[in-house]
Amino acid sequence: MKNDNTSLHELGVTELARQLRERKVSALEAAGHFLARARAHAQLGAFLDIDEDVTLAQARAADQALASGSKATLLGVPMAHKDIFVTKDFVSTAGSKMLAGYRSPFDATVVARLAAQGVVTLGKLNCDEFAMGSANENSAFGKVCNPWDQSRTPGGSSGGSAAAVAAGLVPAATGTDTGGSIRQPASFCGVTGIKPTYGRASRYGMVAFASSLDQAGPLAHSAEDCALLLSALCGPDLDRDSTSLDVPAEDFTRCLADPVAGLKIGVPQEFFGEGLAPDVRSAVDAALKEYEKLGATLVPISLPRTELSIPVYYIIAPAEASSNLSRFDGVKFGHRAKDYVDLVDMYKKTRAEGFGDEVKRRIMIGTYVLSHGYYDAYYLQAQKIRRMIADDFAQAFKQCDVIAGPVAPTVAWKLGDMSDDPVANYLADIFTLPASLAGLPGMSIPVGFGAHQMPVGMQLIGNYLQESKLLNVAHRFQQATDWHAKRPQGF
Ligand code: GLN
Repeated sequence: MKNDNTSLHELGVTELARQLRERKVSALEAAGHFLARARAHAQLGAFLDIDEDVTLAQARAADQALASGSKATLLGVPMAHKDIFVTKDFVSTAGSKMLAGYRSPFDATVVARLAAQGVVTLGKLNCDEFAMGSANENSAFGKVCNPWDQSRTPGGSSGGSAAAVAAGLVPAATGTDTGGSIRQPASFCGVTGIKPTYGRASRYGMVAFASSLDQAGPLAHSAEDCALLLSALCGPDLDRDSTSLDVPAEDFTRCLADPVAGLKIGVPQEFFGEGLAPDVRSAVDAALKEYEKLGATLVPISLPRTELSIPVYYIIAPAEASSNLSRFDGVKFGHRAKDYVDLVDMYKKTRAEGFGDEVKRRIMIGTYVLSHGYYDAYYLQAQKIRRMIADDFAQAFKQCDVIAGPVAPTVAWKLGDMSDDPVANYLADIFTLPASLAGLPGMSIPVGFGAHQMPVGMQLIGNYLQESKLLNVAHRFQQATDWHAKRPQGF
């Protein structure tokens, strides 16, 4: 039966790819459907760039490939990219005035890999400036609203990606996660997202924030969809990314259906302390009970340096950012001040005009902790504790197969509520930072609703290169429950 197309946005990536292959729907129809939805819900602020001609041309090419029997796994599936990935055919801003109107001469590897599997690009998605933030309020191009309650934040920094998936403006989106930016917005918007092991996804063409932490990954409606997308976007890129892992690309869908009976789930006591809101706690507790019903065992574990992950991250990430962002000097990329008297004046005015407050704050912190006399006291100490945090995980994984806990201490807060309080934003990252610092894979799956009927996400953390296991554990939960299938009203 031919799909009537009015409900295409209710399908996940896996099902949409199947219907495209079976020619029940064409890539052109799918692209047209989602473009119309993006236009109709522009008030969410999720998209930063759309170019219908480019998208429709890609869709026509996908239809030709479908007609000729191509075996690409995502042929004709439309999706959009966080605006931190550079793209040839769309403007790439990283959410910064510094890069307003910037066009890259090449596509990021992640974008190119997805395109090679037949993905049709719908456009670019709003994000915090240079991916610095937890609420998407640091974008130079306006806020993004959470589709579950438009007065609330979608989370950050991949806020546009999570909001667009939740509202059905795209079946899936890319995001990046430096300290939680895939997991936290996925949690706030009730979608599924995964950050792979550091080095799995190429950083080539991802505008750099903190190079030892930045990782790309998908946001979609289910673990099954994330598995399909992650299989396409990961893989070695040794010539272009010096931290790319030399491990072959994998089919992350292959273990999805494995039973979870006998699985040992580590529950870190530090993730369930005072700071955790009771509504989030009860949704996560209920999800853990569901796992017990599925035959898993809960094992109490300890990640004793969880609290230290905040100062450690907020030293290391700004340190790396201050170095990475030195390239925006008005000479090579983007914005240049109009009036200046000499070279130094041009640098100063360009950077004063081009960067937003949070980015400037991080450049100052980063420069400070790296400077002579403070390096040993801050940066070096932070690096040592970072190693200890990774060691804590190594100990924990001797007792369990995966670790589970909340993604964030609360549900999504009101837009504006914390915008003048950077420290409050930083503290809200407490549960996502440890896995980032250790370079471990982590994901967020919807497990219910908390205060104000806002979605709650549960975090699953795996050992290195255990993405298949994580996705399997998430998929089994999603087969037994339907939290991931809930959609916000009005979309
Ligand atoms: N919220 C964290 C920060 O502001 C994480 C951001 C990210 O993962 N890109 O740095």
